Amino acid sequence: MFKTITILIPAYNEEEVIQQLYTRLNKVIETIKGYSFEILFVNDGSRDCTAEIIKNLRIKDKRISLVDLSRNFGKEIAMIAGLDFSRGDAVVIIDADLQDPPELIIEMIEYWEQGYDDVYAKRESRAGETWFKKWTASTFYKLLQKISRIPIQENTGDFRLLDRRCIEALKQLRETQRYTKGMFSWIGYNKKEILFNRDSRAAGHTKWNYAKLLDLAIEGITSFTTVPLRISSMLGIIISICSFFYMLFIITKTLVFGESQTGYPSLMTVVLFLGGIQLLSLGIIGEYLGRIFNETKRRPLYFVKEYNDNREFISAAQH
Ligand code: UDP
Ligand code: MG
Repeated sequence: MFKTITILIPAYNEEEVIQQLYTRLNKVIETIKGYSFEILFVNDGSRDCTAEIIKNLRIKDKRISLVDLSRNFGKEIAMIAGLDFSRGDAVVIIDADLQDPPELIIEMIEYWEQGYDDVYAKRESRAGETWFKKWTASTFYKLLQKISRIPIQENTGDFRLLDRRCIEALKQLRETQRYTKGMFSWIGYNKKEILFNRDSRAAGHTKWNYAKLLDLAIEGITSFTTVPLRISSMLGIIISICSFFYMLFIITKTLVFGESQTGYPSLMTVVLFLGGIQLLSLGIIGEYLGRIFNETKRRPLYFVKEYNDNREFISAAQH
């Protein structure tokens, strides 16, 4: 009986690369003997021909299954949908755009056989990305590392092999606003890092823009730490103490030297400063409140429009 490995590919408007990805992936898989493979595409509400291309591939290759989501839910949700539907003893999550070289899967499987549960690929270089993106990414990781208690791997994407027990763990984390990168660390288990050079996209263009990245960054912070709340209470305490002493100073000054009419600039400064701090703190509280609001709705994470599976094929291959 062979072990099954699921290759999970979230795809959103990737019609230009699917064929190329399949060809390259297939070449790699052919060289790996002793396993049966499931190639699980999650079509994340693409508006182009991605789904049709995958369905065409399925006609010839029964290892391919397709989860077609009812709309675009974003990569984080597409990944959990894929994990829910995956049947393998291990899952390899890989981007559709060939930025993650499929050849690494061979090495990942070797480490998995040695007993590692989470073999992740760390980027040594990031080709095709601007220095600004690299800089913002590295600053964000440093910040997140400082304020949250779990270690989050820098320069590591979602390209990794996960053992079944990691998958079962991740499947239990049903929060709607997901920061999967943090979850991989949070669940623990034996981790192994391998290095690679990240290529530029094979074709098509990135689905990320700075607004989305900022969103993900706030997601990352608010879902893994409450430190910002702590910071705003600390600021509150510090400012109150300062104000108290300032009050003593003013009272004494007025009693000793009498009242003068000056003081408008200092008054204005204090009022504006406090106003700023209050708005900031309210904003931070609001971020967390918003998360609570979203989680309490307890909505399902996604809906599936269509699921084309390969159950017969897998069970045939296993016996
Ligand atoms: N993706 C997705 N849903 C989205 C956006 C992206 O499933 O809403 C997929 C996309 O098809 C690709 C992967 O996530 O397979 C990574 O996306 P992209 O290459 O745009 O991100 P980048 O590599 O620039 O971080
Ligand atoms: Mg990409």
